Amino acid sequence: MQHITEGVWMGRRYVKCHGCGAVEYNPAAVRAFMQGHQSCAARMHAPAAAGYGGLGDAIAAGTKAVGIEPCTPCQRRQAMLNRAVPRFFRR
Ligand SMILES: [Zn+2]
Repeated sequence: MQHITEGVWMGRRYVKCHGCGAVEYNPAAVRAFMQGHQSCAARMHAPAAAGYGGLGDAIAAGTKAVGIEPCTPCQRRQAMLNRAVPRFFRR
């Protein structure tokens, strides 16, 4: 899961850091932005530091981010994916 995403808003390309919420619109500064915000990935997943961080948590965090509460099948999938891919996040 990439915590820095690219998008277009009002016809302008931008990159957004989901770790701290910062947004960069200057194309010339995008590369520096991405490098400067590499460490924000850890901050983004900090609440899940205690025993979390598997792929299932990544997907759950993603669905929560768009306002979807995980249902029971989602939580089952989350646990399953965590067992399957426990070290999805590199620390
Ligand atoms: Zn950041």
